Amino acid sequence: MTAKLLSVIVPCYNEEENIEDFYRELQKQTREALTRHGLEMEVIYVDDGSRDGTCDAVRALRKQHREVRLLSFSRNFGKEAAIYAGLEHARGDLVVMMDCDLQDPPFLLPQMLDAVLTEGYDSVATRRVNRKGEPPVRSWFARRFYGLINRISRTEIVDGARDYRLMTRQFADAILSMGEYNRFSKGIFGWVGFRTKWLEFENVERRKGETKWSFWKLFIYALDGIMAFSTVPLAMASVFGVLFCFLALVFIVFIIVRKLIFGDPTSGWPSLVCIISLVSGVQLFCLGIVGQYLAKTYLEVKKRPIYILRQEESDSAAAQETGRGEQA
Ligand code: UDP
Ligand code: MG
Repeated sequence: MTAKLLSVIVPCYNEEENIEDFYRELQKQTREALTRHGLEMEVIYVDDGSRDGTCDAVRALRKQHREVRLLSFSRNFGKEAAIYAGLEHARGDLVVMMDCDLQDPPFLLPQMLDAVLTEGYDSVATRRVNRKGEPPVRSWFARRFYGLINRISRTEIVDGARDYRLMTRQFADAILSMGEYNRFSKGIFGWVGFRTKWLEFENVERRKGETKWSFWKLFIYALDGIMAFSTVPLAMASVFGVLFCFLALVFIVFIIVRKLIFGDPTSGWPSLVCIISLVSGVQLFCLGIVGQYLAKTYLEVKKRPIYILRQEESDSAAAQETGRGEQA
């Protein structure tokens, strides 16, 4: 029997100084566990349109290690696209995705392998229990986001969950079957179900380089996540509608009663202006929400590819050995 294969997917965007460190650390932490379980490993670096020497760094690594593969995008498509591309090209019986900056600690991988291979889980997910080293404003917004999305979505999205997750081939195929354009992995992982074990760890700060997520980028990502996994905002228009009808009714009764008791000193245009601007504000707000969903639907029906490859470099011999996937 040929050995089982573990595919490690590593999305990279301008990470030239981390490529080698990551590989070295991964090898160091997992060598023993891999031999114990009789596993071979392939490492797929997905270059998400980097503008620095990321590709060259991976190529240099490929010269020494046959199991390293490179997928290079034609431009920056985002981490979600990189994960999807990695999954599509992974040949492994087990698949794990890890950030390149060593914020997803490789020392957890042996435990994760044990959980899947001996305890019978379909996937092992990780979450960080604190956000040490992160700007407080960012943490605050992150907490609010998880609170909100879990209230309005039926898919559970765990606070602090990382995309660092080990999964079986069956789990990976389930994710691949979700070919949506607006991808929000944290939701997709939860949506597909299966038996998942959660491991917790203390936040690790980025080894080298800088985070690729600005506050604004994260904010948009959060909105995308909400729209991808909840339709509650769409129902808000109806709720507001009912609420304002009710208020209007109360107001009408109030005005009639006042007229009957006190007569009608004609006044009240300032209050009228306030009411009109409030109601039209709410209407525009609701229209905006509908517009957002429409825009997402528009992009979705266009069926554009999630990513475009410029180049793939991998060892074709490895592909034949495992008999899975296409060659370079
Ligand atoms: N990344 C990517 N494409 C992007 C942004 C980020 O592939 O457009 C990768 C990045 O190289 C890293 C991982 O996604 O390996 C996580 O990014 P980062 O460390 O910047 O995010 P943070 O850990 O600060 O949330
Ligand atoms: Mg990071």
